[in-house]
Amino acid sequence: MQLAFQGLERSCVHLLETHDQVVVEVDTEVFDDDPRLPLGRAQEPEFSRNFAFVQCTRSVTLPAIFIHELSMPATAPRSAGKSDLIELAQEASASLDALLAEAAAKVRAQVTVEGRIVGRLFDREQRATHGLAWLATYVEAVRQLASYAARLTGEGTLGELEELLIRIGLGEYLAQVAGGIPMSQNEVVRLSDLGLSQAQIAARLGPIAETLIAGGNNAERRARLIELIRASHGITVGVCGLEETLESIRVEMRRFADAEVIGHAQGWHRTNSYIPLDIIKQMSELGVFGLTIPEDFGGMGLGKESMCVVSEELSRGYIGVGSLGTRSEIAAELILGSGTAEQKEKWLPKIASGEVLPTAVFTEPNTGSDLASIKTRAVREGNVYKVYGNKTWITHPVRADLMTLLVRTNPKEAGHRGLSMLLAEKPRGDDKNPFPAKGMSGTEIEVLGYRGMKEYEIAFDGFEVKAENLLGGVEGLGFKQLMQTFESARIQTAARAIGVAQAAMEQALDYAQNRVQFGGPIVGFPRVADKIVMMAAEIMIARQLTYHAAREKDSGRRCDLEAGMAKLLAARVAWAAADNAVQVHGGNGFALEFPVSRILCDARILNIFEGAAEIQAQVIARRLLDGTN
Ligand SMILES: Cc1cc2nc3c(=O)[nH]c(=O)nc-3n(C[C@H](O)[C@H](O)[C@H](O)COP(=O)(O)OP(=O)(O)OC[C@H]3O[C@@H](n4cnc5c(N)ncnc54)[C@H](O)[C@@H]3O)c2cc1C
Repeated sequence: MQLAFQGLERSCVHLLETHDQVVVEVDTEVFDDDPRLPLGRAQEPEFSRNFAFVQCTRSVTLPAIFIHELSMPATAPRSAGKSDLIELAQEASASLDALLAEAAAKVRAQVTVEGRIVGRLFDREQRATHGLAWLATYVEAVRQLASYAARLTGEGTLGELEELLIRIGLGEYLAQVAGGIPMSQNEVVRLSDLGLSQAQIAARLGPIAETLIAGGNNAERRARLIELIRASHGITVGVCGLEETLESIRVEMRRFADAEVIGHAQGWHRTNSYIPLDIIKQMSELGVFGLTIPEDFGGMGLGKESMCVVSEELSRGYIGVGSLGTRSEIAAELILGSGTAEQKEKWLPKIASGEVLPTAVFTEPNTGSDLASIKTRAVREGNVYKVYGNKTWITHPVRADLMTLLVRTNPKEAGHRGLSMLLAEKPRGDDKNPFPAKGMSGTEIEVLGYRGMKEYEIAFDGFEVKAENLLGGVEGLGFKQLMQTFESARIQTAARAIGVAQAAMEQALDYAQNRVQFGGPIVGFPRVADKIVMMAAEIMIARQLTYHAAREKDSGRRCDLEAGMAKLLAARVAWAAADNAVQVHGGNGFALEFPVSRILCDARILNIFEGAAEIQAQVIARRLLDGTN
């Protein structure tokens, strides 16, 4: 596309749509020609998604209203009916794409020197870079809501309830984009933090966004949605939009969680007990540990969407049960992606059947987010590696048979190139003798929630691992191998978060319908009902984002961005749902005997592990700005 501007003096970036209509975005002071005739010298545009950036050399100013006229087809605010929901959602999504592209350009300018990202600037401007990651997550969420609306319409399953979820979700997320996105409870990022001017924001969030915001998350729709939620006898609020096989898996897992897990979760939590081995056996029989392992290696060969459904439903029962498969997923991904043929043959069938329970051993007392700096050493001596060092926050290590153990094999290489991954075999222990292995000892870490598997700090002092158990048979690749598993692990963690949020919503709804104050059930008060309605809408948004990431993974495309966004949003949604569910319970929410108090503790971890929220935002921002991690 060739586009040109005449007589321009000062450098400014103009945003141009690659459709028939030229869109001019301006943020500067003087304009004296007809802006609809941007004539002049052609410059090579820089393309990003559906947009082209053209470097201009003169400053121009247009009244906001004129920018609207130019930037998008004039759309009168509509009282949108069902039929134009998809169209509106898609148009809003396109406007947000433009906004994001523009914001990215602004943030990029803050953190680059001569076209290259400068790490120090990138860190200094975290409000802007992480804010950009959150904005991108919202943009993707709106896109996925639009696609969900289109899919359900195509299948004839878009009912009133689903439509309300979509409208409330779209309205709320667009309003937050315009007004401020909460990155945490006390950090709200505003578009001005990213360097966008009011005129630029107004140009993008034009009449369509206005229509969706006004007709979205309003009192009338919330009141109707809570009415429908109360009347419906389903647990999931709204159809999820997955194919039938996946919904049958959901039914089966829900039946298992209802019968075997939910009634015991509070007891396991309060007594800090292990999830019984019989539950693990039943999960093995249901195929939970081999879901996505190829059939050639004894698994079921299903896609990542199935992993999402299973993790969601089991975590709805209890996060501990929903997390039993996490370590199997990580180990299987590591071995499938990087193992030798012998390692695949040896381990994958046993992991798939649940005969071998793995544990992931990466974090150290002084090194968590910055994993490339770990210090635990593995020294090759003949046919073995001897391991020395301390690991911490290791989940379920006592009953595990296999450790995926990240170690430094090359002490001369301080960064990630010195790291290797070992498939370290270990005997199972118990509470009395947790680590019956030479050179390995550990201490339990008492925790708020996420119990049932137990957390340990582990010391290695000459612990031996057979040299043949070096993953892939090559030293120095451990960090890279681990990074390749993050997509899957983050999608799975997002699904766990959705399950926890779902459990919180169910507790809140049940309590609100039965608790009577001022002569009626408290669900009749909008401030109580609204909390539940927002849980339902945000759970559906997080679901659609997570399923999208899973589909991307299954298609073989790189999806670290999508997986990171799903995890980032779902963890916040889970925490908000749990916190609000406690609030709905009033004083009883604070009582240990009420399950919601446990759900609050369980939900808190989701923003910390598998990449803390800040690290997730950092990684997403980095990818958005320079296309790498
Ligand atoms: C219950 C539980 C289970 C776990 N299970 C396992 C397991 O099985 N195996 C395993 O290996 N590990 C496990 N972990 C460890 C977990 O992955 C780490 O806790 C996590 O990666 C964060 O590391 P850290 O605790 O050292 O925090 P730190 O890295 O010290 O971070 C502290 C805070 O600083 C922020 N921060 C750090 N760097 C930056 C930055 N560059 N920019 C902005 N903010 C930053 C973080 O986001 C965080 O909020 C578990 C942790 C918990 C609590």
